[in-house]
Amino acid sequence: MTDEPVSLLSDGQSWDRLSSVALGRLVTAFAGEPEIFPVNFVVQGRTVLFRTAEGTKLFSAVAKSTVVFEADDHNVAEGWSVIIKGRAQVLKTDAEIREAEGAQLLPWTATLKLHYVRVIPSEISGRHFRFGPEPDRSDTFA
Ligand SMILES: Cc1cc2nc3c(=O)[nH]c(=O)nc-3n(C[C@H](O)[C@H](O)[C@H](O)COP(=O)(O)OP(=O)(O)OC[C@H]3O[C@@H](n4cnc5c(N)ncnc54)[C@H](O)[C@@H]3O)c2cc1C
Repeated sequence: MTDEPVSLLSDGQSWDRLSSVALGRLVTAFAGEPEIFPVNFVVQGRTVLFRTAEGTKLFSAVAKSTVVFEADDHNVAEGWSVIIKGRAQVLKTDAEIREAEGAQLLPWTATLKLHYVRVIPSEISGRHFRFGPEPDRSDTFA
C-alpha cells in the first residue's frame, strides 16, 4: 500500500477487503425511491451473498434489480471502502441454493430468512485512505 492519502485498490485487493468483513449496505430502489439496508454477507466466487425473507421490502426491492453494495472498515490510522454495482438475483434452483449453502452464511438477526440473494457485480471499485492531518492550506496557493 502506498503512503498516499488516497489510493485505488485493484479488483483482487477489493475482493480481499470485502471478504474480511461481514456487514455491508445494499442500496436499491423501491417504487422509484432509493432504499438502503444493512445486511450481513459473505463473498462467494466474486459475488456477494446474503439472506432475506420473502414479503419484506428488501426482498421485493432486490428481485432482479440493479443494486449498489458498499462495505468498509477503518482503524485510527487507515480505512478502506469497496463499492460494487451490479444485479441482485434471488436464488431459485436447487443447484443455486446448494452452492449458496456451502458458504455457511448464518443470519445475525433472529428472524427467518429463507431466501438467498446473490449480487453479481458488473463493476467493483475500492479505495484505501491513510488518515492524517489536513494539509496546510497555504500550500495550495504557493
Ligand atoms: C447489523 C444488521 C444486519 C442485518 N442483516 C440482515 C440480513 O442479512 N438480511 C436481512 O434480510 N436483513 C438484515 N438486517 C435487517 C435489514 O437491514 C432490514 O431492516 C430488513 O431486512 C428490512 O426489512 P423490511 O423489508 O421489512 O423493511 P421495512 O420495515 O418494510 O422498511 C420500511 C422502512 O423502514 C426503514 N428501515 C428498514 N430497515 C431498516 C434498518 N435496518 N435500519 C433503519 N431503518 C430501516 C426504511 O426507511 C424503510 O424504507 C440487518 C440489520 C442489521 C442492523
